[in-house]
Amino acid sequence: MTVLDMRDVRKVYRSGDADIVALDHATLTVDRGEIVALLGPSGSGKTTLLSIAGGLLTPSEGVVQVNGHDIPGYSAKELTDFRRHNVGFVFQSVNLVPFLTAEENLLVVDELGGGRGGRAAKERARQLLGELGLAHRTRNLPAQLSGGERQRVAIGRALFNNPSLVLFDEPTSALDTSLGEQVMELIRSEMKSRNTASVIVTHDTRMTHFADRVVRIVDGRLGAAEPVGA
Ligand code: ADP
Ligand code: MG
Repeated sequence: MTVLDMRDVRKVYRSGDADIVALDHATLTVDRGEIVALLGPSGSGKTTLLSIAGGLLTPSEGVVQVNGHDIPGYSAKELTDFRRHNVGFVFQSVNLVPFLTAEENLLVVDELGGGRGGRAAKERARQLLGELGLAHRTRNLPAQLSGGERQRVAIGRALFNNPSLVLFDEPTSALDTSLGEQVMELIRSEMKSRNTASVIVTHDTRMTHFADRVVRIVDGRLGAAEPVGA
């Protein structure tokens, strides 16, 4: 079953009097449980593609469907609702709330969705943090965690609402290679055990073997899919 379906997506940024074509005829589908690595140099359009796939940015042209939601036509409010229920994001810069503990950083998701951070939500936050190897860190502030631990809290936050699509923007770029590999391994096992579709942006070819499929992007254009290890 297709979770993400992007067809002939184009994104043009107007900046001063120059137009920047950040994405051109981008076509990409991702199925349930499938992990796609999006590999390309800086400035090639990776973050633009993820932002459009997750309903953070509107395409200039093209079709974008997530779980059958036709998101380019959505209002701002519909997009907020859509994101809350369908998509998880993990950014390079982690973005945890500095004055909240690991557990509270997950509960924020529940509160944004109208929940009250009650017993069930706390239980879920603890269970997720436990799965991610952070059972002993639930009450620590982000500043008291290592880079890898912070990234794992960010993954827990992205998974909190059981999204069917999780978008990772260079999740290992701030980590050294061995920690990066551990985080990628964890991402892979979490995505596979939940049958969740994901797109993982990277410019590091050492990380692509964790994906089922590698798609290259250069100057806003996607290449043909390649088997992993090619
Ligand atoms: P990547 O994530 O692969 O580094 P981006 O998607 O961030 O690439 O950017 C693709 C291109 O679009 C780059 O040339 C970048 O400078 C440009 N770009 C990105 N965001 C904006 C913006 N808000 N306004 C104008 N140009 C932008
Ligand atoms: Mg980027």
